[in-house]
Amino acid sequence: MKIDFHVHTNRSIDAVPSPRLVVKHAKKLGLNAIAITDHNRLFPHHEAQRLSREFGLLVIPGMEGGNIAVRKHWIALGVSRPFESHSIDTVLSFIRHEGGVSVAPHPHARLGYANYADLGFDAVESLNGSEPLANTLVRNTKNMPELGGSDAHALPMMGHTWTRVEADGTLDSVLEAVRSGRCTPSGTTVPFLDFLRFYPLYVRHRILGEPREAISRACRVIREIRALGTGESSCTAVEYPRIQGEQHPSP
Ligand SMILES: [Zn+2]
Ligand SMILES: [Zn+2]
Repeated sequence: MKIDFHVHTNRSIDAVPSPRLVVKHAKKLGLNAIAITDHNRLFPHHEAQRLSREFGLLVIPGMEGGNIAVRKHWIALGVSRPFESHSIDTVLSFIRHEGGVSVAPHPHARLGYANYADLGFDAVESLNGSEPLANTLVRNTKNMPELGGSDAHALPMMGHTWTRVEADGTLDSVLEAVRSGRCTPSGTTVPFLDFLRFYPLYVRHRILGEPREAISRACRVIREIRALGTGESSCTAVEYPRIQGEQHPSP
């Protein structure tokens, strides 16, 4: 199977397309599955199943945790309850308890866990499409399952980075294949020109298209950064942004 394990939708504060557009585009690109991993927001199982049925590819419910601008990030795949904790040990225990798979995304970037192997992550994102320089130290240096994910925040960023997985198409088989290392990062990082196409799309849809929400999002991020500075962060999964997504027009 050809799977992109790291895709954002407009349920993240910094991404453009709706979940439906993302899944539709993934199908067009020939992917067999994608994981929707929005910042601090778990993609609901029932919605993943509905989109899977509609477009004929597996949609894996996931989330990317950690403060979007400041703290270390982690990815949970296949869990059914949202959660957040300042303790990475608690996070990884929770994911394991829920039967999910934990992934250390962009581990050598500023927002990654460089000590991912010692912490006990199930897999490492050794190929992150949007952080090419952050991944040069990862490949083949650790004996743990490796994944590739685009970290796409707009449609042109998809389709360049993925993972080859030996699985039969069900969510359980994909999670099991990752745990046992039957997965290989494939493709390349996002070409620079496609990466740049994110910015006009973001301005058009997420700033000019919803100016009030854009201001409130900016204020919230500033508050979170300040709160982290004082050790009083209130960043939790349930506080992160309300959904504007389905209103965007189809391409
Ligand atoms: Zn991240
Ligand atoms: Zn991400």
